[in-house]
Parts: sequence; structure tokens; C-alpha cells
Amino acid sequence: MRPDVFFNGSYGGDADKIEADTRLECKICWHVYDPAEGDGYWHIPPGTPFSQLPEHWTCPQCDGAKNDFLVIEG
Ligand SMILES: [Zn+2]
Repeated sequence: MRPDVFFNGSYGGDADKIEADTRLECKICWHVYDPAEGDGYWHIPPGTPFSQLPEHWTCPQCDGAKNDFLVIEG
């Protein structure tokens, strides 16, 4: 098994999986990142897609990594 394979539904650093308005959910604390709202904690302006978040961005609630976020379908 390749080390870069992530389980189904995880973001896994693959920007192709998500659209500009796709919301993602932290798998640790269930914090939701909504591109329409941005992120006040990291001073991310509204309208910023998850894929455009800076590399150092982490979950504002639990410090989880971007790769730990799960795509919310629908
Ligand atoms: Zn979290």
C-alpha cells in the first residue's frame, strides 16, 4: 500500500477532489470549513476555496492538519 493513499472521502492534499465552494469537515473535532465564510482565526477572507488555504493552515479548533479534513458531499 502506497503511503500517499488516503481513505475514501478524505481530502488527502488532492485539490482535484474539491470544488471552489466545497465544504470540508475536520475528522478530529468536526469543525467545518466553509469557503463562503472563510476563517476568522487564520484571517482567511470569505470566498477562499479549501485548496487555496496556505500550507501552514490547520484546524482552528484542534490544530488538525489540512489532510485530516473530509469532503462534505452535497
Ligand atoms: Zn479540528
